Amino acid sequence: MYRINPPAVYAHESVMENPVYRARVSRVVSSLQQPGPVITYSDQEIPDLIKNGLTEKRVPMGTLPRITDPILLFNTFRFQTEKQMVQLKRKWHQEKLEVGSDLLGLGAFHWSPYNLSEDPNRQHKVCRPCWRIHLQTGCLHRCLYCGLGGLLVAMVNIEEYCQHLQEVIDRHPWQKTYLLDDDADPPGLEPELGCLSYLIEFFGKQKDAYLIIHTKTWNTRWMTNLQHNGKTIIVWSISGPTQSQIIEEKAGTTDERIQAARIAQEAGYQIRYKFKPIIPVRNWKKEASETIEKIFALTNPDVISLCCFMWMDVSEMKKRLKNVLDLLEPEFLKMAEQHPEPENPCTQPFPEEVRFQIYQYYLKEIRRHNPDIPVSLSTESWQMWSRLGQSLGFTATDYVCGCGPMSVPGAKRLKCHPFQSAVRDSQGIPGTMTEV
Ligand code: SF4
Repeated sequence: MYRINPPAVYAHESVMENPVYRARVSRVVSSLQQPGPVITYSDQEIPDLIKNGLTEKRVPMGTLPRITDPILLFNTFRFQTEKQMVQLKRKWHQEKLEVGSDLLGLGAFHWSPYNLSEDPNRQHKVCRPCWRIHLQTGCLHRCLYCGLGGLLVAMVNIEEYCQHLQEVIDRHPWQKTYLLDDDADPPGLEPELGCLSYLIEFFGKQKDAYLIIHTKTWNTRWMTNLQHNGKTIIVWSISGPTQSQIIEEKAGTTDERIQAARIAQEAGYQIRYKFKPIIPVRNWKKEASETIEKIFALTNPDVISLCCFMWMDVSEMKKRLKNVLDLLEPEFLKMAEQHPEPENPCTQPFPEEVRFQIYQYYLKEIRRHNPDIPVSLSTESWQMWSRLGQSLGFTATDYVCGCGPMSVPGAKRLKCHPFQSAVRDSQGIPGTMTEV
């Protein structure tokens, strides 16, 4: 496990009253740098915990004067009392107290309607509708641009979780892959926690469904002996040395991530990479070329996706990266500053010309090493797809990518239309928030 020293450790009473869950917490706590007491709490105490600072450091880490390890909080999904927990959340909301779903044991399975009629961003980015699955919120990696530090909530009732997940999988045969935790980095507390290994082995028994773990970890040796049966795909978010060491301080370095991928690959896991987010630093071309060269020297991914730094305007980016702004490519930063009203709210701050130039360079370098591997854009605009689709050899509707719901290992092109095949059928399944 990562060497960490959280300022406090909390466990919900539903965790501490179950010996199996309690043992998971104890293993993590015994591996901390300074093991301390576990504070047991009930739902009624959540408002006080928040008032006393539980969530106050859940803000972009680059805006904090000092970044520490997050508070750890262990909780259970409340599959049996989902409606009551939603009512409690609404009541607190009316009282002007915002309580995250993770603190209330909600949000195990999340329907993401990307590019369907109910998606407010459907005109601005290309992604695929699917179920996303969750076990944690929060992370140990301290990426300056990210708001997921401060508090790491980990759910521990994995046996119950997998029972309901099985129903989600059975009812959605069009969905082949399940991305875990797009708001966490799942291996952080493993192997001590033991929930991710349980989930990997659960997917190992599936006929036609795959788990996707998206990570910046250096830590994969623990998973080499699991019975994964080729049903877990691990996607590394990869970046060059400057970004990985200075901007993503506690994540694996470039070399450590590629080594971790090599170890996983040798243990039979399908591995992939996303250059996401690409933060253009001063020597970005050299770092991109060297990183791509190392990837192909040591590993054999089945797909690579590309995504520039996005999702916020230039002033927000400058706030988050304020201590490292001099690392950025000055010309690109200037171009971002000159476009304060971008054409697309999802792909800002770097204008299309900057992103286009970056993608073209990465694609050329990848093709120098591998002429055939599928290369796609991740959460990019329709406009970028129409500019680059021909060079990539895909359209916005048939590309394979790192975590798309139909991107099974080794897929070269989608066989089904991703927006037309996705149909939600979750009535009666606990954890899907269907009846609340
Ligand atoms: S690894 Fe991902 S979740 Fe963790 S801090 Fe970095 S960006 Fe956030």
